[in-house]
Amino acid sequence: MASTFSHPVVALAVGAVFTEEQLPRRYWVLGAACTLLPDIDELGKLVGIKYGDMLGHRGLTHSLLFAATAALVIGLQISARNPSISKACLVSYLFLCTVSHGLLDALTAEGLGVAFFAPFSSRRYFFPWRPLPVSPIGRIGVFTPRGAALLLQEFQRIWLPSLGTALIACLIRQITIRRRR
Ligand SMILES: [Zn+2]
Repeated sequence: MASTFSHPVVALAVGAVFTEEQLPRRYWVLGAACTLLPDIDELGKLVGIKYGDMLGHRGLTHSLLFAATAALVIGLQISARNPSISKACLVSYLFLCTVSHGLLDALTAEGLGVAFFAPFSSRRYFFPWRPLPVSPIGRIGVFTPRGAALLLQEFQRIWLPSLGTALIACLIRQITIRRRR
C-alpha cells in the first residue's frame, strides 16, 4: 500500500475533477476515509486470514464489487439525510475514492497484486508500470530516514500529480463558470 497519508490525497483530485457541485467539507473527509477503507482487510490477520486468501490483504476489500457496495451503502445513507447533494454524484464520488485505493496498490512494486474481480476471480493484478514503493511507514515511523525517503517518493508520485490534477480541474471550472456568465 501507499501510506495512509497518501491514499486520501487522491480523494482531493477525484472530487475536484469529478463533480461541478460544491462538495461540503464533510464529503471530502468521507471521500478520504473511503480511500483508506479497503485496508480494513488488515484486521483479518488478527483472526488468521492469510495474505493470499480471498479475504486476505488486497483481496475482496480491494475489489470493484466492494468499492461499489461500500459507495452505495454509505452514499445512500448519507444522501437520505442530506438531499441537497445528488445521490448519483455522491455514490459515484465515493466509488471512485474507494476504488482508487486498489489502483494505487496495483502500482506498487512489492507484495501480491490486487484482486479487482473478487469474489468472482481470485486472480491478483498489478499494472505493468509500478513506480510506487510499498510503504511500511506504520512499522518504521515517519521520522526515520527511510520513512522520510518513502514519504518524499509518495509526494513526488502521488501528491504532486493529484494536487496538479485538482488545480487544473478547478481552473478549468472557474474559466467555464466565467464564460457562462
Ligand atoms: Zn491496500
